[in-house]
Parts: sequence; C-alpha cells; structure tokens
Amino acid sequence: MTATEPRFAHGRPTLSIDLEALTANYRLLQAQAPGAELAGVVKADGYGLGAIPVTRALIAAGCRTFFVAHLDEALALRAAFPAIALAVLNGVYPGSEEEFAQQRLSPVLNTPGEVARYAAFARTRDTRLPAILHLDTGMTRLGLNTRQAETVLQAWPATLDLDLVMSHLACGEKPDHPLTSAQRQRFVTRTDGIAESTRRSLANSAGVFLGAAYQFDLCRPGIALYGGNPTEQAENPMRAVIRLDAPILQTHDVADDATIGYGATYPLARDGRAVTVALGYADGLLRAGSNRARARLAGYDLPFAGRVSMDLITLDASHVPANILAVAEHVTFFDEVNTIDTYAQHAGTIAYEVLTRLGARFTRRHTGVLGA
Ligand SMILES: *Cc1c(COP(=O)(O)O)cnc(C)c1O
Repeated sequence: MTATEPRFAHGRPTLSIDLEALTANYRLLQAQAPGAELAGVVKADGYGLGAIPVTRALIAAGCRTFFVAHLDEALALRAAFPAIALAVLNGVYPGSEEEFAQQRLSPVLNTPGEVARYAAFARTRDTRLPAILHLDTGMTRLGLNTRQAETVLQAWPATLDLDLVMSHLACGEKPDHPLTSAQRQRFVTRTDGIAESTRRSLANSAGVFLGAAYQFDLCRPGIALYGGNPTEQAENPMRAVIRLDAPILQTHDVADDATIGYGATYPLARDGRAVTVALGYADGLLRAGSNRARARLAGYDLPFAGRVSMDLITLDASHVPANILAVAEHVTFFDEVNTIDTYAQHAGTIAYEVLTRLGARFTRRHTGVLGA
C-alpha cells in the first residue's frame, strides 16, 4: 500500500460483494431442491448488491429465470441479458403492456382485471403472450383469492400462455406455523388439474428448506442467495456475501470520564478507548443499531458506542490492545462472524432491510470469478 494507493479511496467505506459466495449459495440451494428449477430473485437492485453483476454471476452458475418487482428493473436487466427469462412481480401496470411484449417480459398477473386487460392487449396484437398467475393462498398481499382463481382458471384467455402459477408463503421461515402447511394445501387444491404445460412455484428461500413438498417446479429464492439466514431456528447454511469496511478517522484515549455522541447516551470511563469511523445512517447503517450493534477489528468486538450519526459511528475499543489499535486502519461491519442477521437483530429488523438500505456512498467492489 503506497500513499497514492489508499485502501479507502477518498476515505469512502468499501462494500465488498463476493460473487463466488453468491454462486456457492445458488449451488447449495439447487442441491436442496434437485427436482426444481432454481430462479433468482434480483428485485431492488439485487437486494442492494447490484442486479447486473449479481445476475451475471447467477447466469454463470446456471440460473435462467429471474424475478424483479418493477418493470424498470426488468428493462435494465433485459438490456444487459437478452436471453434470460424475466418475470415482473408487481405485474403489468396499465399502459405498460407494449413494453412487456416487446421486451419479452412475463408479468405476474395479480388480479382478474389485470388478466383480462393483458389478454385483451394480446388480442389487439393478434398474438399470444406469456404470463404468470399469482394465487393468494393466505398472505392477502397480491394475487387472486379462491373465488377469483376458480373463475379465471376456468376461462383462461386463449391469447395468454400460462407458463407458471405461483403463490407466496407468509411464514415460510416458521415450518410449524399452521399457515405454512395451510398455504401449501390451498395451493395444491387450486392448481389441481391445471395443464401439464403450466409449472407451479411456491417456495421463496425459506420454502426451499421446507423440503420437496414445497418446491414444486420452480423455487424463487432471494435472501438466501445474498447470505441471509433462510431458516429462523437453524444455523445459517448460507455463505456471507457482503463485507463492509470503514476507515477509522480518529482514535480517542479518554483522559477524563466522557460520554459519546448525540444525546450523551454512552458513558466511557477514564482510560477507555474509542474509534470513530466514516459510516453512518446516511449510508444505511440503521440508527436503531445505536448502543446495540457491533463491529469487528482484528478479531475483537467493538460495541456501537452512543448514537449512530449521519456520517459517523463511534465504537467502544476499550478492550482492544493499544498496540493493535495504534496501527488499525479500519473496522469491519458485516462479515462471516458479524452477519447481516446479527446486525438486523440488534437494529430490530430483518436482514432484507439491512441489505436493501445500503447506501450509495460506498466504493462497491464485486469480487470472485466475475467480479471487477
Ligand atoms: C421477494 C420475493 C421472493 C424472494 O423471497 P426471499 O424470502 O428473499 O427468498 C419470492 N417470491 C416473491 C413473490 C417475492 O416477493
């Protein structure tokens, strides 16, 4: 490392995204569901990790079908990857039909009106278009209810090719929750007797780990690909994908009793030590982690000391030996040891939110086979 090659360009934190770990997670999920196609859910910019590099890596691992939430997310991926199958979970908003057809996107149709509208559009073009149908089996978020499903499936429009029928689990990470098996049963009942050419999909990441009965023809994992724990009770079988390092801007040797940060919420005894790093809630480090979460330095835990500021966090480094602290350049926020799930727990949220809140001020480094 020379003076012209700083580890942290312009003092920015570095978010490292390990595409090799991502593809290992894809293969592990595929091994869990050997009889099903394993799609990749890359909505919200690949859960904040970069939809383009994530998709490129998953394609190399054998993934062929991708789910996003918004049309715009699909258009960005289509421009980069002409050959993949792309499904849009939020469906086809009125006025967007032409773009779906032109860009070969499959809308996930969530209401009877949406089915009718997309079928009518296909008729005006004198063509058949691929579509996915979403059945609501107990989440009351998107999808057709029992009555609507019956009506729509009985008179499925000739202009739409029903490639996939799907539903979504509300409590997949709780195998013993009565709704989990009830949703599966409803899904089976409602899709019973459906055409051979229509495939079925129920499982998200957690669903993959519920076994073959939940995997059907296609699984739709998201969080597990990115290293989040898909099994609430068990140890995380997935590899960590992100690592977040932030440069130390200042080290404090406390000469007198002190408090740390806004609101003076963290007392630091005389002779205590602390470090302040260039990372804050504007970077997505949830303020709810104040006084609860921790970072790591050379194998030591550093508790968040006081409130997270917009651009800065101060950490209690009192038990880090002085000689180590003297040469330390950075601390690590997420890695294999201090996981995104641990941080989420401390901040009262879930790994999904930790990932998708990650901000835009980092240096983003994609590593592994296809990384830059
Ligand atoms: C986000 C989403 C997924 C992926 O869920 P994970 O829990 O991240 O695996 C799958 N299906 C639907 C409908 C989704 O909205």
